Amino acid sequence: MKPKIWLSSPHMSGAEQTYIKEAFDTNWVAPLGPNVNGFENDLQSYLNEDIHVAALASGTSALHLSLILLGVGYGDEVICQSKTFSASANPIVYQGATPIFIDSEKETWNMCPEQLEIAIKDRISKGKKPKAIIPVHLYGMPYKADEIHSIAKRYGIPVVEDSAESLGSHYKGQNCGTFGDLSILSFNGNKIITTSGGGALVTRTPEQKQKAVFLSTQARDAAPHYEHTHIGYNYRMSNIVAGIGRGQMTILDSHVKNRRSNHDLYFNTFKNFEQITFLPEPEGHFSNRWLSCILLDSKETREGLRLALEKENIESRPLWKPMHQQPIFKDAPSYLNGVSAELFERGLCLPSGSNLSNEELDRVISAINMYFAVC
Ligand SMILES: *Cc1c(COP(=O)(O)O)cnc(C)c1O
Repeated sequence: MKPKIWLSSPHMSGAEQTYIKEAFDTNWVAPLGPNVNGFENDLQSYLNEDIHVAALASGTSALHLSLILLGVGYGDEVICQSKTFSASANPIVYQGATPIFIDSEKETWNMCPEQLEIAIKDRISKGKKPKAIIPVHLYGMPYKADEIHSIAKRYGIPVVEDSAESLGSHYKGQNCGTFGDLSILSFNGNKIITTSGGGALVTRTPEQKQKAVFLSTQARDAAPHYEHTHIGYNYRMSNIVAGIGRGQMTILDSHVKNRRSNHDLYFNTFKNFEQITFLPEPEGHFSNRWLSCILLDSKETREGLRLALEKENIESRPLWKPMHQQPIFKDAPSYLNGVSAELFERGLCLPSGSNLSNEELDRVISAINMYFAVC
């Protein structure tokens, strides 16, 4: 069996161990420490000096705290992009609120502005104004930020920007991760940079950050004993994990370059194949191309290709199954136009790691060529 080629695997810079060693040498193993502050500062400098970053245990915990900061509670409704990973939607349910799913548009595959406005009007007419909107820059492709944010503003609904897959992407010169009233990042194992597991909340004000840090460290009030006026969470990032993050920040831009070059290679190799189409970057959109995605001409071709790659020990994955089609969310109100369902049927994510060797890329390309030569 040839060695496995992964969809997206961790890619270390070498600098990570320096920061971790420093943490051990100074016994900053726990609780917080210089790496946490350092990683937060690195992210802040990278994204925009005017924002504030709280390093957390995961992107999911950052989404959960976002909803808590916005006062989302039992019986509320929160709008969420349907085509996303389930972690975008689960925290809505943690808060006892109901997710309202919005379908995609075809230019970026993200939240459709028309469906969003239809949904807002309909929910208001039914007596409940949504408490928040969660759009996602899926696979690194920025959503239509101008349209989405102007609708949100018009109705006075805050936006939680899910930038878990889009660190290094930008829209009209503004970095993804800085568009929302609150924004979240993920450093899970398969993301463009990883801390083995981790995330961050990006806030507009130092007070919001302070509140998030307070809640994420068990909501301990100032007192010599343990005193609590709030329900707390254990959501803070550790100083060891943050050391990995500092090392990863040194190579973020080169990871973006490598992932974009994977996408360009697939595009240039297969652009003339009738059965394969790609998602071009619309004007003003710059994607980190976290995952290289293709659309096949049918569900059968998609599944055939996936199995052919699997036979060669190459991992690929259908585009994310929309939340409105997930059994757990079958009763959630949804505003649909058919786009995300079709993307799920025909779409495939190809190996996209920043550490793929030329030999590995050659193997993927040969396997795809072979599949279309015989079918
Ligand atoms: C990975 C991911 C998350 C969750 O981040 P974790 O760090 O794994 O908790 C949320 N939303 C999207 C779109 C993701 O891809």
